[in-house]
Amino acid sequence: MSVFTAAADQSVCRDNSGALPVLGRDVTVPLVTGGEVTYAALDYAASAPALQRVWDDVAAYAPYYGSVHRGAGYLSQLSTDLFENARGAVADFLGCRADDQVVFTRSTTDSLNLLARVLPADCQVFVFETEHHASLLPWQDAKVTYLNAPRTPRQAVETLERALADRDPHGPALVCVTGASNVTGELWPVRELAAAAHAHGARIVIDAAQLAPHHPVDIRDLDVDWVAFSGHKLYAPFGSGVLAGRADWLRTAEPYLAGGGASRKVTRRADGGVAVEWHESAARHEAGSPNVIGAYSIASACRALTEAGWDGLVAREQHLIAEVRAGLAEVPQVKVLSLFGDDAPRVGVISFVVEGWNSSHFAAALSAEYGIGVRDGLFCAHPLVRTLLGSDPQTQGECGAPEAAPGEKSLNAIRVSFGAGT
Ligand code: PLP
Repeated sequence: MSVFTAAADQSVCRDNSGALPVLGRDVTVPLVTGGEVTYAALDYAASAPALQRVWDDVAAYAPYYGSVHRGAGYLSQLSTDLFENARGAVADFLGCRADDQVVFTRSTTDSLNLLARVLPADCQVFVFETEHHASLLPWQDAKVTYLNAPRTPRQAVETLERALADRDPHGPALVCVTGASNVTGELWPVRELAAAAHAHGARIVIDAAQLAPHHPVDIRDLDVDWVAFSGHKLYAPFGSGVLAGRADWLRTAEPYLAGGGASRKVTRRADGGVAVEWHESAARHEAGSPNVIGAYSIASACRALTEAGWDGLVAREQHLIAEVRAGLAEVPQVKVLSLFGDDAPRVGVISFVVEGWNSSHFAAALSAEYGIGVRDGLFCAHPLVRTLLGSDPQTQGECGAPEAAPGEKSLNAIRVSFGAGT
């Protein structure tokens, strides 16, 4: 079987009985080489298609759009109500504690940068080098310790425990870790890492960008301090994200953005300056007119996923994962990338290389010839992908499509990803 036939034959690409209806499932696109094909969007890890339900909810609300927290009129009242109800829906979805805050942001990247801005003085941050750049990079202004890539979940916990044991036990500390890898789809041992963090007096934030679309994420059950995720990976592609969790650091820090909405009272000072009292609620970090459609769409997706039932969604996705992996295993040239090994629990995100092929060319051919949309590259997790490919961490692979000479080791990978809409 050729590598292309194997990929194109995957029933995950052609089976249209998705667990939840999404937009664009059956879009027929013309092929560059002539003819047409039903397009299979298998790049959910980058951006998942909107759920039909989300689209319908947004369309029903759109004629009544108005400003949030900024008007006495009916449209403004309605929008304010929907925005604040969306906060409640997200809190329910994440099983938030009574005193947790849900802050609407632009994305996971934005959420983690916000948390990085509210760290207490002298906070020590611990982050694995395997993280997506959104959780690897925002901490550069803090005292940050980068932890080496573990090769088992147990090793991850031990690595963290060792690092935490070495730290100054009196100062504040934060661990930032992904819930599910955007490269391998592997689940990280979040509960155990949280227990290790708390045992050493540290806090923990979960980058749930890839976890939340595939699994229930319960803040209390996992016993984590914060969770961050993006609407556009959770079938709600309208420009919002979430940072939810402990209120104390958020409530006392300077606002992430200065401006209207974040400020409760602004006065002129006798010395000619301006004095500001900031809100202590989530609004403190939501300055400017908030993205009500983004927040509303996330709430709609949260409700749709919960109502569909996680047990069924997870079971179907696990079935699809097994099918895709079995299909790939039939092709000797294919090597699936894994940090924790074949038996590790995972979500529907699978990266691989094909011996003798440049991954970018392979991905382009899958799209042009077979109507299968995947991702190629280093997936904004350069250190992890280089580790998995065994390439030189210092020199190889820019973002985008590094070229491998014919017959040379691949410098980037191909990623296929799917979820509740597949
Ligand atoms: N974290 C992980 C694990 C991701 O996969 C991504 C995006 O791919 C991000 C964070 C960043 O998400 P966003 O681009 O929505 O900010």
